[in-house]
Amino acid sequence: IKQILLANRPQGLPDANNFKTVETALPELMPGEVMVKPLYFSVDPYMRGRMNDAKSYIPPFQVGEPIESSGVAEVAESRDDRYQAGDKVMSSGPRPFLPWATAAIFTGDHLRKIDGSIPLTYYLGLLGVPGLTAYFGMADIGKPKAGETVVVSGAAGAVGIVVGQIAKIMGCRAVGIAGGSEKIKMLTDTFGFDAAIDYKGHSNIGAAIAAACPNGVDIYFDNVGGEISDAVIKHLNFFARVPLCGQIALYNTTEVPVGPRIQPLMVTRSVLMQGFIIGNYANRFGEGIKQLSEWVKAGKIKYTETVEEGFDHLPEALLGLFSGRNSGKMVVKV
Ligand code: NDP
Repeated sequence: IKQILLANRPQGLPDANNFKTVETALPELMPGEVMVKPLYFSVDPYMRGRMNDAKSYIPPFQVGEPIESSGVAEVAESRDDRYQAGDKVMSSGPRPFLPWATAAIFTGDHLRKIDGSIPLTYYLGLLGVPGLTAYFGMADIGKPKAGETVVVSGAAGAVGIVVGQIAKIMGCRAVGIAGGSEKIKMLTDTFGFDAAIDYKGHSNIGAAIAAACPNGVDIYFDNVGGEISDAVIKHLNFFARVPLCGQIALYNTTEVPVGPRIQPLMVTRSVLMQGFIIGNYANRFGEGIKQLSEWVKAGKIKYTETVEEGFDHLPEALLGLFSGRNSGKMVVKV
């Protein structure tokens, strides 16, 4: 089988030299074990943090060991009665990931069967971590009220596209910020955003935000951080809420990023800013999946994916997140 390992730790933006592909063999299957072959891998921005040797809410990848990410797999061979060849599965338990390998062995207890009748990539996107992140960030922290203005950065990505549509469902004005004219067009034409701002094509993003949000900003769902967020924060209204979801603009910085002091504005405008990780909501995932599924069935939420083809393209797909190569959820079809 093939495996993709972390070859060394990146400084700044990672590149292909940080990964290494090796050939290896799997041991013989023992009783209680299941061999799975991956069908789809997810690549996600937080994985950049796992490439560093830093303590976080999730342990770092080890140099010389396979990278791992969420994925959907098919049972190839089973010595656990609960699984048959052909079953669609995801890994569960303490480390709900698949190693970047063309096949892997799990104990049956660390797998769970999934319903193969819905599109398998939905488990990685709309009904997986990104969709749930959008849902709980909005439901629990954003708390949208009809008539409010919601701005989301990283708007054309896996999380952002869902955030904007939830804003619309709740009767809000949805404004997205993303990179490139095609993404902007997609947000307004396909996903129903009221306005969208191309941060790459704007020299004065503050003015663009002011124009797109004539009544100010009540919720800023922050996926990117950095200068985009500095610009949005100036337009926050009294009692605005800011779910801090991600800071992708800062994941490859090599120096401590600095920006304007926002605390005075937060005080005088009574702003609530709260960071969260989706794991905080693990015991409520059922609620999120149920609500998102209902919205999908009712045609209120649409989704899009960028599918890279081939196991060997995993590193490229992961790196592509940092140049905005994806619209919607980025997945790799093995
Ligand atoms: P996306 O599908 O949004 O992919 C990443 C996107 O980020 C790219 O397509 C690109 O879009 C944008 N981007 C990359 N670099 C920059 C930059 N320097 N400045 C501005 N935008 C940039 O990823 P996800 O939807 O999976 O994740 C979005 C955010 O949410 C990330 O920050 C991620 O870490 C976070 N997250 C947090 C979770 C949590 O539990 N808190 C769970 C899941 C995700 P563009 O072309 O528009 O630049």
